[in-house]
Amino acid sequence: MADLKNLKLIARAESSTNAFELAKKLKIELKDIVAIKIDGKLYDLNKKIEKDQIVEFVKNNSPEGLEVLRHSCAHVMAQAIVRLYKDAKLTIGPVVEDGFYYDIYREKPFELEDIKKIEQEMKQIIEEDQPFERVEVSKQKAKELYKDNKYKLEIIEELDENQPISIYYNRKTSKSPAKEKEFFDLCTGPHVPSTCYIKAFKILKVAGAYWRANAANDQLQRIYGTCFATKQELDQYLERLEKAALADHRKLGKELNLIMFSEMAPGMVFFLPDGYTIRQELENFIRQEQQKLGYKEVRTPIIINTKVWQISGHWDHYKDNMYFTKIDEQNYGIKPMNCPGHMLIFANSSKSYRDLPLKISEFGLVHRHELSGVLSGMTRVRAFTQDDAHIFCTDEQIEEVVIEVLDLIQKVLNVFGFEYRAELSTRPEKYMGELKLWQKAEEALKNALKKSKLDYSINEGDGAFYGPKIDFKVKDALGRVWQLSTCQLDFQMPIRFELKYEGKDGRLHHPVVIHRAIYGSFERFIAILIEHYAGKFPIWLCPTQVILLAVAEKHLPYCLELEEKIKKEKIRVETYKKEATINLKIREAQLRKIPYMIVIGDREVSGEKLTIRKRNGQQLKMSLEEFIAFVKNKIENKEND
Ligand SMILES: [Zn+2]
Ligand SMILES: [Zn+2]
Repeated sequence: MADLKNLKLIARAESSTNAFELAKKLKIELKDIVAIKIDGKLYDLNKKIEKDQIVEFVKNNSPEGLEVLRHSCAHVMAQAIVRLYKDAKLTIGPVVEDGFYYDIYREKPFELEDIKKIEQEMKQIIEEDQPFERVEVSKQKAKELYKDNKYKLEIIEELDENQPISIYYNRKTSKSPAKEKEFFDLCTGPHVPSTCYIKAFKILKVAGAYWRANAANDQLQRIYGTCFATKQELDQYLERLEKAALADHRKLGKELNLIMFSEMAPGMVFFLPDGYTIRQELENFIRQEQQKLGYKEVRTPIIINTKVWQISGHWDHYKDNMYFTKIDEQNYGIKPMNCPGHMLIFANSSKSYRDLPLKISEFGLVHRHELSGVLSGMTRVRAFTQDDAHIFCTDEQIEEVVIEVLDLIQKVLNVFGFEYRAELSTRPEKYMGELKLWQKAEEALKNALKKSKLDYSINEGDGAFYGPKIDFKVKDALGRVWQLSTCQLDFQMPIRFELKYEGKDGRLHHPVVIHRAIYGSFERFIAILIEHYAGKFPIWLCPTQVILLAVAEKHLPYCLELEEKIKKEKIRVETYKKEATINLKIREAQLRKIPYMIVIGDREVSGEKLTIRKRNGQQLKMSLEEFIAFVKNKIENKEND
C-alpha cells in the first residue's frame, strides 16, 4: 500500500495563482505544508505561480520540508540571541544533517543558563507568530543594513553586484515587544510562512568555531540546534542521540580496551589485542566467503611509483589527499586506493576469456590525507584497511558477477542484523566510454538488482564518469544510516592501464573492472559495530567468549583445568585470577560484556553440572561437554546473541 505520509502532492497551475489559492482549489490542507517547489526549485509558500507551472507542495516532514523548517528555526534562534544579548554578532547559520547551527561572535561564552534563556525566547518568538517576509535589496542597501556587522559585510562584499540580495524579515506582530527593531537576516531562503510553523525544536550544544574555519580569524561560538515536524519525532531523535552518546565507539572502544589513539600518529588507529581479535574475525569471515567464490587474495605494496598514479588518474584528481615520498631520486605515492596495484597484477601475465571473471581481493591498507579538523574517532581517519576486491570480467559477464557480489554483500550484512537498501547510480551527463556499453551495463545492473530481490532506488545521473554503481545504505540499531558496501563498474581503468584479454574471437578486448567492498573500511565498520551492539558483540566476535570465575581461591585450580579443555576447542576463554569477591568478579565480567561466565564453587568441583551466567543475567545449567557444543554452535552460526 502506498505510504500516504510520503505521497507527493503535485499539481499544474491552470492560471497564474499562488499556493494558497491552488491548495484551496485542490482541497489540499496547507497546515503541514511549509514551501513549494516549482520546476524542482524550492520557494516560499507565497511565491507567485505562473500558468502551467508544475507545483509540488513540500510537507514539513519531508527531507526538503525539514530543511526549510530548520532554516527558519535558525532565524528564530538568531533573533532570540540578538534580543537577549546586545553584544552578540551573527555570522552564518546553515542547515546541517539532522539540524542547524549558527556561528555567533560574543566575548562571553554561552553557558547552560543562556541556552535555557534562548530556548525560552525562541518559544516567545514562535508565539508571536511573526511572518517571514522576503525583501530583495541592492548590494548597497544590504551593506547599509549590516553596517555594524563586519562578518555579514564580508559575505555581502563577495556577492554579485548585479544580482538582488534577499533579506528575510521577521515582521513584528501585536504580540512582539513594542520597542524592538524588526529582525532580519541575510538569506536565500525559503522559509516557513510564519514562526508559528515551528513546533518542535531544541538547542543541542555549543562548540567553538573560527570565522571562515580559519584559526587565524576571530573565534566564534557555534550553537547547534534541531527542529522536527512534530514533538514525537524530536523526542525520538533526542533519544537516539542519547543512546548513541552512551555507545560512542571512542568511549566504549577505550573502556573495552579495543583501540587507542596517540598524538604520535594522528588519525590512525592502534588496535589493541582485543580490538585486533575482532578485526581478525571480521577479516576471516570475508576471506572464507570469498574463497568459496573463487577470489584470489593478494598483497600489494603501499608505496608505488608516481608514474602509476599518473596513469590511474589519481595524480590529476586525488593528489591533495595523497602522501608522497622520494626514494633513490624517484617519486613515490603512498596508495590511497588498491586498484592500481591490482591493475598491475592483471597486466602481469597474458589473459584469455577463460581466465575471466578474475576476482582479486586484498585487505589493503590505504592512506588518505584528511585535515586534522575533520578527524573523528575511527570513522574519519588517515589510514585504514579496506576489504577490497577487483573483478575483471567481459561485458557479457557483468550481470552474473554483480548478482554474485550483491548476494555476498547481503549475506554479510544479514549476519549483523542490519537493515539495508541499495541505490543504483546511473550515467552522469559527463561520462567517458561508449554509450552502448553504458546502456548494456546499466541494464545488467538493474537485472541483477531485480534478481537479487533487493529493495532499491535509482539515482539518475549520479554515477561516476567512469561507470555506474550500486551502493548500500545500512541502518544500524540506533537508526542511523551509513553508506557501507559498494559495487562500482569501471570502463576506464582497464583502458588507462591498457589491460587486455584474448576473446573467443581471438581478438584482444578490454575487460570491465568491478571495484567492490563490503565492510568498506575495517576501522569505520568496527566503529559502527561497537555502537550498533553497544559493545555487546555477538559471541563469534567477542575477544573473550567465556570467563571462569572461582568462588574462592581453592576453586582456582579447577578453573584452570577447565580453561585448558575449553581452549582446546578454539573457544577464547580466560580465568579471572585476581583476588576478589565472586560478586565483584561477576560485575567486572559484565562490564567487559563477556557473553558467558562460569562460576566454579564446591559443587562444580565435585562434578555437578556447571552454572553458566549469560551477560544479560540469565542462567543455564550444563555439563562441560554440553556447554562447549552449545558455544561452538553459536560461534559457528554467528548468532546475534
Ligand atoms: Zn534562512
Ligand atoms: Zn578499486
